[in-house]
Amino acid sequence: MEAGSAETEQPLEMEVEEEEIAPIYKEPPKIKRLEESVVNRIAAGEVIQRPVSAVKELIENSLDADSTSISVVVKDGGLKLIQVSDDGHGIRYEDLPILCERHTTSKLSNFEDLQTIQSMGFRGEALASMTYVGHMTVTTIMKGQLHGYRATYRDGVMEQEPKPCAAVKGTQIMVENLFYNMIARRKTLQNSADDYPKIVDLLSRFAIHHINVSFSCRKHGAARADVHSVATSSRLDAIRSVYGVSVARNLIKIEAFDDESSSSVFKMEGFISNSNYIGKKITMVLFINNRLVECGALKRAVEIVYSATLPKASKPFIYMSIILPSEHVDVNVHPTKREVSLLHQEIIIEKIQSTVESRLRNSNECRTFQEQTVDASTSSLRATQKDSPKNPTPPSSQTPKSEKVPVHKMVRIDSLDPAGRLHAYLQATPSSQADKSSLASIRSAIRQRRNPRETADLTSVQELVNIIDSNYHSGLLDTIRNCTYIGMADEVFALIQHNTHLYLANVVNLSKELMYQQVLRRFAHFNAIQLSDPAPLADLLMLALKEEDLDAEGEENYDLKEKIAEMNIQLLKQKAEMLQEYFGIHIDTNGNLSRLPVILDQYTPDMDRVPEFVLCLGNDVDWDDEKICFQTIAAALGNFYAMHPPLLPNPSGEGLQFYKRRVSSNCHQAGGSLKDADDAAVESEYDDELLADAENAWAHREWSIQHILFPSMRLFFKPLTSMASNGTFVASLEKLYKIFERC
Ligand code: ADP
Ligand code: MG
Repeated sequence: MEAGSAETEQPLEMEVEEEEIAPIYKEPPKIKRLEESVVNRIAAGEVIQRPVSAVKELIENSLDADSTSISVVVKDGGLKLIQVSDDGHGIRYEDLPILCERHTTSKLSNFEDLQTIQSMGFRGEALASMTYVGHMTVTTIMKGQLHGYRATYRDGVMEQEPKPCAAVKGTQIMVENLFYNMIARRKTLQNSADDYPKIVDLLSRFAIHHINVSFSCRKHGAARADVHSVATSSRLDAIRSVYGVSVARNLIKIEAFDDESSSSVFKMEGFISNSNYIGKKITMVLFINNRLVECGALKRAVEIVYSATLPKASKPFIYMSIILPSEHVDVNVHPTKREVSLLHQEIIIEKIQSTVESRLRNSNECRTFQEQTVDASTSSLRATQKDSPKNPTPPSSQTPKSEKVPVHKMVRIDSLDPAGRLHAYLQATPSSQADKSSLASIRSAIRQRRNPRETADLTSVQELVNIIDSNYHSGLLDTIRNCTYIGMADEVFALIQHNTHLYLANVVNLSKELMYQQVLRRFAHFNAIQLSDPAPLADLLMLALKEEDLDAEGEENYDLKEKIAEMNIQLLKQKAEMLQEYFGIHIDTNGNLSRLPVILDQYTPDMDRVPEFVLCLGNDVDWDDEKICFQTIAAALGNFYAMHPPLLPNPSGEGLQFYKRRVSSNCHQAGGSLKDADDAAVESEYDDELLADAENAWAHREWSIQHILFPSMRLFFKPLTSMASNGTFVASLEKLYKIFERC
């Protein structure tokens, strides 16, 4: 279901306004009681916003009636006709006259019931609403009866006595000419794309949740159904038949629960797509207590995990079913019951988020296997399987190789894929190996023989990750996960709040360590930042060396620097292959740096620090011991990507001085003529361009700290034990006091 229909609609008042010309003196307008049918029509417009909302209500009624088969026929996007037929328990003859009055329901009789309601309807509003904005015909037969009845309704009233008629088991509800009496609504709907795709989407969602019910949906007059599901006991089968094999074969089962009654109680299960699934946009099918609902916060939370963990597959397919005590769900907030609010929503979302994250991490390591085994076994299936109309783009393995994709969006699919190297690693975990196809294991064995070092490569990285995962400070972890970022207190410290405490957190230290940890976690799986112009290592190194000692300027000194630079270039060229494969640092054969890794999504490091980084790679990395080598490269990247204060002084505050033009020296250079002096006086006192650059750089950094650093830390960061005492976190009032004094 698409939100946002509200923006495209005309205001409803259009239909009821009928004002005299305003007199000159201003009297309050007379309050008139609206005719009841007008009120009802407005209310109906709220519940039934568009054809797809009517379909949803009708299907929910059919499900409440214990149907096992529900079929939908739609004409003209639902504006001409919506017909929903089910094989449920039917409607009593004596109930037919009041069926479509407002607040008639069989599902709720007193307030207490509202707390424990399990069915989807309870407000008795849906059918009534439809009769105010469309023409409704109901045909129904109950079990054991010889014939059924048919009745038509308008404006909440049954038009004539129900007529006996032949009928098959269940109920059929037909709504014709929806919004016939709401011209504005009808026009907007006619102009916008019709609702049929939305209805198909809706049915698809119901079909993969209620797998014991068979659903079908077709256009009026069409021979073929666009959704057709048969009742099954396997959710995966249902997903396959509705969303197609390309979705179903790339799913991971997921489960989470909490029974801590003090914080939250819930059970979640579902399927989420893995790294092989490349969708155009996120598909999130969410049921809470068996109701199809939307939860924006949960959707965003899941999206964040995907773009951080699987940046190449950041538009996932998600099916989740959450069950909670019904008294924890407030379904009454939205007129269409589409959006729900939950007790302990934040805690629940966070638990689900971390479950998704850990499942993705685990599956990421197995992905090459899945790709290969599944490809081999389903190629015949794929040829015969008809993909559903809403099918996303095919997974990476089917993407034509010649397609031009920007580097940072590129999905590696060739045999050089560093992920391939994980075969060797996976050999160490026999369970995942045992039932996989022979093709994968043969390949991995060959790789291993050819390059025995690879096993060691990954073990050493794993060891480094283990160190991070086993030595963190749990109190700080809690603080970081649950803190609120307030703002920057000075150039290095951010002010954060956790419960009732305020802390200062050193964002340079924190970001440095976060980047280091992420480099190790993303090892060999980096997306690329392409430099607009490849930068010659020689120039970068000379720049960095010059910065190192500004005072020693002599000729001799220059020669020495050139020698150091040359040595470093040779060294880095030698290591280029490894730097590229494991760390995404690309140095071409001419000795130019052309690509850097994406360590956190949407974050590019400060390019002014590239020279220092290159020098650091040459000088500070220990290339002999593998583990230390990886560790030192990760540290160099961490230092480079850390959110240092920009090199240009902060123009808000004392730093502003730096941007003052030195007017007098300009005049000297220009010969000091009168005219030049005049010009200088007209010109701004400051170097505006530089000032704007500086302002940008500082604002950008602050944005990154708030929107990238803290959210990412919440997800991935394991704070070192030492950070509690080395000044990274300060809770001291004295220091806080000093900072506020300055403000
Ligand atoms: P609600 O679902 O909130 O009770 P509705 O206006 O959607 O209100 O439906 C009113 C009543 O009509 C329901 O309570 C139910 O008793 C009956 N009803 C509607 N659709 C069906 C159906 N397909 N099969 C059996 N009963 C139905
Ligand atoms: Mg209902």
